[in-house]
Amino acid sequence: MSKTTKQFQTEVQQLLDLVIHSLYSNKDIFLRELISNASDAIDKVSFESHSNEALLENDSDWKIKLIPNKEAGTLTIRDNGIGMTMAEVEENIGTIARSGTKAFMQNLKDKAASDSPELIGQFGVGFYASFMVSDKVTLETRKGGTAADSGCRWESTGDGSYTIEECSLEKRGTEITLQLKEEFKQYLDEWKIRSIVKKYSDYIQYPVVMDVTRTETPKGVNGEEIEGAGTIEKTEEQTLNSMKAIWARPKSEVTEEEYTEFYKHVSHDYDAPFRTIHFSAEGTSEFKALLYLPAKKPFDMFMNDRKKGLQLYVRRVFISDKCEELIPDYLRFVKGVVDSADLPLNVSREILQEDVQIKRIQKSLVGKVLSTLAEVKDKSFDEYVTFWKEFGQVIKEGMHFDYANKEKLQELMLFESTSTEAGSFASLKNYVERMPEDQKEIYYITGSSRETLEQSPHLEMFRAKGYEVLFLTDPVDEWVVQSLTEYNEKPLKAVDRGDISLDSEEEKKEKEKKREEAQKEFSDLISMISDRLKDKVKEVRFSNRLTDSACCLVADEYGMNANMERIMKAMNQAVPDSKRILELNPDHAILKAMASIHQKDASAAALADYADLLYDQALLTEGSTIKDPLRFTKLVSDLMVKAVQ
Ligand code: ADP
Repeated sequence: MSKTTKQFQTEVQQLLDLVIHSLYSNKDIFLRELISNASDAIDKVSFESHSNEALLENDSDWKIKLIPNKEAGTLTIRDNGIGMTMAEVEENIGTIARSGTKAFMQNLKDKAASDSPELIGQFGVGFYASFMVSDKVTLETRKGGTAADSGCRWESTGDGSYTIEECSLEKRGTEITLQLKEEFKQYLDEWKIRSIVKKYSDYIQYPVVMDVTRTETPKGVNGEEIEGAGTIEKTEEQTLNSMKAIWARPKSEVTEEEYTEFYKHVSHDYDAPFRTIHFSAEGTSEFKALLYLPAKKPFDMFMNDRKKGLQLYVRRVFISDKCEELIPDYLRFVKGVVDSADLPLNVSREILQEDVQIKRIQKSLVGKVLSTLAEVKDKSFDEYVTFWKEFGQVIKEGMHFDYANKEKLQELMLFESTSTEAGSFASLKNYVERMPEDQKEIYYITGSSRETLEQSPHLEMFRAKGYEVLFLTDPVDEWVVQSLTEYNEKPLKAVDRGDISLDSEEEKKEKEKKREEAQKEFSDLISMISDRLKDKVKEVRFSNRLTDSACCLVADEYGMNANMERIMKAMNQAVPDSKRILELNPDHAILKAMASIHQKDASAAALADYADLLYDQALLTEGSTIKDPLRFTKLVSDLMVKAVQ
């Protein structure tokens, strides 16, 4: 194939423009990104060669070589990693394969990058960072185990297109050459390169090397100066990094900065982590773990194709960069490395899924993450709240899927409530501690937003009693309450379900008597309304729960509430036909007015209209949509006109 010119996928060009123009003020990190990629590529060949020795081509002297060339103004980064086929180059460098990333880029299109730098920072933009400092980038690569002439040369100036052609490469691996921009020639300086590698890539576990030339004066056999000998130049390959696996070092010897740099390497995040958890386990299962809790949620946290899992090593040998078995899905935001002393080196995916060691490790990691969070919550609640706002939604999934840790998880959960200001949170413990003595249950209401819930007629009697009600506004909360049926022996109760009452036995009897009387007195009116709404509601009855509003809709103790119905619909799920109960307030003026019309003329047409209006009102106050807004508006307008006449 001869040289062809191709256009970057639109999203790639957008991403490139962002990277070049606004992403990093710190240009040094381009080198970190390229070394990181080279290290990943060596990880891959080293791991895959366990089962396919041909990949090695007898070269396992792992090395990442930096070659500054002052005359040419170029910096080359060469690795003997796995390399890429031409198809892989096209896929990895010319396009953005992950659909989530693509969708996200679409979103960003109109926004200035400066609006959301922290989001952009979440990309694996690694390779593209080279364009910040280069006029032209050339990549030559050949996949391990392929013929010498199946190499590939890719080249671009970062302005919309790239060229790609086949070439012959003797050695396996990848070589990236940057034609540095005039103002970035400092990256050819030995000391500059040394300091960047030391700062950002010291932990890389393969040698990052560079040829270093020193001028020396020759010495005699006894080390004495030789007069008139002049100087000689001596070049040797030096290793620039210490290669110490950071997780294998004692905690006391690792600096904050080293932890942060390593975090950036494993996570592709550009912010510092929220918390670092570094520990080792001994006994039935021996391993070291270095885990990180990020500070910001990744944009693709709820997308299926996102990269999940932790890095797995076995006795310092890389096994996998996304071992999903190590961490449950609801903690998918946790990043880091686990190094096991017990697993076999040739561990396969199937083994990982079944392995008891892995299960033990997972259990211990989850325990550590949850106890770290509990500690943050107890010691610095405000900080915990910022974390919860980012990750609370996923942690709550654990209530449903991690039954074994239910007790710990319920302590970690935070909710807004009628007693907190918007944006402030209460834990279940806070709630119980401030419960009035006569309150026996924990009350909550689910819905799409706090603002809508604040208006709910269901809250009336709780407000009157001074009882706190939790606002559960995440879709996942509907599942949380299915698992969390009680806390501290106090049952959790939805305020919009079943026949709820806050009264003493005495008051209850009293109210029930009143209600039955009203029900009897207005039985004709009630049956007229029931009849009118029979396709929409299961029952119409007088209520004990309303004080100010005329009506509300109530779900059965086990029926589906409005919120759940909305969520199911949003997920395109079939919603079972579950009618709810319309409760009316017998003391409300509307009911009194309707009763008086009904007494005069039981067949008055207005009554049917009023019944419809009552039902629509109940829907609107709970934040549901009404079926026929046109008719609703017309009925209201008619009423207004009548009122004026
Ligand atoms: P990321 O490293 O976050 O995936 P990059 O843009 O840096 O994003 O790289 C894209 C992909 O290109 C990598 O995932 C890898 O598959 C491939 N790649 C990049 N550099 C190398 C390299 N030196 N050797 C082999 N493959 C590489």
